[in-house]
Amino acid sequence: MADDPTTDPPDDATPDPPDAVDDVPTISCTRCGREWDLTYELDALVAGNQSVEQFALDHKRHTGHFPDDAATWLARCRHCPEGVERLSRRAARRWAEVHARHTRHSVAVSHGTDGEELLVEPGDWKASARAESDDDGRF
Ligand SMILES: [Zn+2]
Ligand SMILES: [Zn+2]
Repeated sequence: MADDPTTDPPDDATPDPPDAVDDVPTISCTRCGREWDLTYELDALVAGNQSVEQFALDHKRHTGHFPDDAATWLARCRHCPEGVERLSRRAARRWAEVHARHTRHSVAVSHGTDGEELLVEPGDWKASARAESDDDGRF
């Protein structure tokens, strides 16, 4: 008897779209005293896995600081005032390598929270190609 495969849910049931994101990531910023969900980044910018990074970069761009959860990598030149702040180690290191390549300056790359520091010397960019997938070595 219960042979009706097209049983519709009752009208008061809210159907979930199949690709609904249950768990929209949120980011808070104590400096702003606010919290955001990343629906905009996920939907409008189609940032996907990069949505947290995208938000953090946008936040920095518009407010001058990063939100709470953004542990940034700093690349600071030891010879001139140049430097950047990036969310990924690779991006910070890439900047350092390019700077070192063009200027022959040594650049220190460090992580905001754990104090680990990597020194990118002029010429290191040559080795970085083969260490692309795993940049824990700088030999
Ligand atoms: Zn803020
Ligand atoms: Zn420099």
